[in-house]
Amino acid sequence: MSSVVAKQATYDYRSLKNQLFELLDTLGGGLIRENSRVVVKPNLLAPASPQRAMLTHPMVVKGVAEYVLDRGGKVQISDSPAMGTFEKVLKESGIREALKGLKVTYKEFKESTTIDVGEPFKKIEIARDALEADVLINLPKLKTHSQMLLTLGVKNLFGCIVGFRKPQWHLRAGVDREVFAALLVRIYQAIQPKLTILDGILAMEGEGPGKGGQPKEVGILLGSADAVALDVAVCRLLNLAEDELLTNKMARTFGLLDDPVALIGDRVEIRDFKLPMMASVVFGPRFSHAFLRKHLIQRPYLEESLCKSCGDCQRYCPAGAISCRRKKINFDYEKCIRCYCCLEVCPHGALRTHQPILGKVVANVMNRSS
Ligand code: SF4
Ligand code: SF4
Repeated sequence: MSSVVAKQATYDYRSLKNQLFELLDTLGGGLIRENSRVVVKPNLLAPASPQRAMLTHPMVVKGVAEYVLDRGGKVQISDSPAMGTFEKVLKESGIREALKGLKVTYKEFKESTTIDVGEPFKKIEIARDALEADVLINLPKLKTHSQMLLTLGVKNLFGCIVGFRKPQWHLRAGVDREVFAALLVRIYQAIQPKLTILDGILAMEGEGPGKGGQPKEVGILLGSADAVALDVAVCRLLNLAEDELLTNKMARTFGLLDDPVALIGDRVEIRDFKLPMMASVVFGPRFSHAFLRKHLIQRPYLEESLCKSCGDCQRYCPAGAISCRRKKINFDYEKCIRCYCCLEVCPHGALRTHQPILGKVVANVMNRSS
């Protein structure tokens, strides 16, 4: 039986700290020993304030850091942001300020170690600090994700792929979400975080995970020693079938979801949570994928009034599908692999998804017949 512990919570630090200490004691108090090197991995996708609900809240990071210090461990806060400098993310997220005076180190994931994660990916490079930590504490945010539906415990560890290796992997996984989900699960297996605590106090709904998503007060913390079990518990709370989140499906395929998942602790619920508009998955023979992608799957589109022509999306796009002419962003939908990285990294929330007309028709027909 894999247990997931739920707590009703707010960011009021006094009560949050108690809740986090209780949660961590329940989940694995004995894990942290004198001088254990503990890497804390929040979601630090890109610079954003806590009100945007894009990143793990600074009070959650602080509570976990204080717990580790209290147990004699050494704390290192690490991630590899998709956009913006690590320092800028620490500052805008409020983490630098919140943790002032605590004896923690901040270190961006920069060096990788190559490990063999098996077929079909074989060798992949993962942040050395994440692999070599005595204990890695994974601190995801509860957010929607235009490509993967949600970004939770397993997906948060994609941040342990260093810098521009991330878009390269998006490109290799291509438009096939199951392949990308399999990659995420393999990364999770390689890192084996000892604990995962999900910040679902101020979550993100709608067209996440970047600034196109909307903050949503949910008021929960979930913790588990098993990130897959935690992701399954979130699906249950959202009334989703477990396998709708493809990382769960792939985890089951890899034998990581054999035990039943028990949700214990406070009684919690999530109401009226808006999921992102998801495209139908690619099906049919491989030669037809380009056609299907072009005509059925949502494409990124620009809200011109919000674009500041900063070029971040163009620099990050793994497929080279974005160009900029006379300060106007253009998409090459033939090249675009629908990874939606551009939505993640746009600092001004100027990108959305849009479904082509044929895709809408097919989705309607499929909905009616299901
Ligand atoms: S345009 Fe956006 S969705 Fe398309 S490949 Fe580039 S980053 Fe991915
Ligand atoms: S869409 Fe966003 S990331 Fe791209 S140029 Fe405009 S503001 Fe910058």
